[in-house]
Amino acid sequence: MTSRPVRLLIVGPQGSGKGTQGIRIAETFGIPVVSTGDVFRANVAQGTDLGQQVKSIIDAGQLVPDELTSAVVRDRLAQPDAAAGFLLDGYPRNLAQVRHLDEFLSSRDEALDAVVVLAVSREESIARLHKRAAEQGRADDTDEVIAARLSIYETETAPILEVYGERGIVDEVDGVGSLDEITDRIIAALHARGLARSAAA
Ligand code: AMP
Repeated sequence: MTSRPVRLLIVGPQGSGKGTQGIRIAETFGIPVVSTGDVFRANVAQGTDLGQQVKSIIDAGQLVPDELTSAVVRDRLAQPDAAAGFLLDGYPRNLAQVRHLDEFLSSRDEALDAVVVLAVSREESIARLHKRAAEQGRADDTDEVIAARLSIYETETAPILEVYGERGIVDEVDGVGSLDEITDRIIAALHARGLARSAAA
C-alpha cells in the first residue's frame, strides 16, 4: 500500500451510477471529485458567462468544446486540494481530451493511477435515466437527449478505454448490484493496485 496522491478517473455510460460511486470512492481515498458535468451545471445555475456558453449544448446532450472543457479542468486541478490526488468524473470524454489531460499531467510529472469503468448495459442505463428524469427532472434526461448522450458515449468515450487499457490502468467493474456492493468492488480493484487513502487527507 502507498500513501502518495491517488489520481483516478471514473468512466461509464450516463446512468451507470458513476456520479454516486465517484463521490463514495473519493471519500474513501480522501480526495476531491472533479466532475465537469457538475461544474457546468453549477455555472448554468449561477448564470455565469461559462454557464451561458454551455447551457444549450448541455441541454441538447452534446459535448462542450474540448478546449473550453480542458481549460476548466486544468484550473480545477491547479487548486491546492488536488495536490493530494483527485477523482475525475466525466472527463476526459474523448481522445482529444485524453491528449489535453496527458499534456497537463505530464507537465506536472503526474499520471492517472487507475481508470474505473462501470459496466452497465445500454438497456439498464436507459431504465435508470428514465427513473432519474422522473425524480429530478433534469433537462438532459429526456428520451431524445438520453439517446444522443448514449451514442456519444459509445462513439467518442468508449475509445478512450482502449488508450488507457494499453497503459494497463483500466479496472472494469460490474455496475449492477447494490450501491455498497459496487463500491466494495471498486475499492477492492484499487487496493489490488496498491492504491490507498492519501496520508495528506
Ligand atoms: P455529465 O453529468 O457528466 O453527464 O455531464 C453533463 C453534460 O455536461 C454532458 O452531457 C455534456 O454536455 C457536458 N460535459 C460534461 N463533461 C464533459 C466533457 N468532458 N466534455 C464535453 N462536455 C462535457
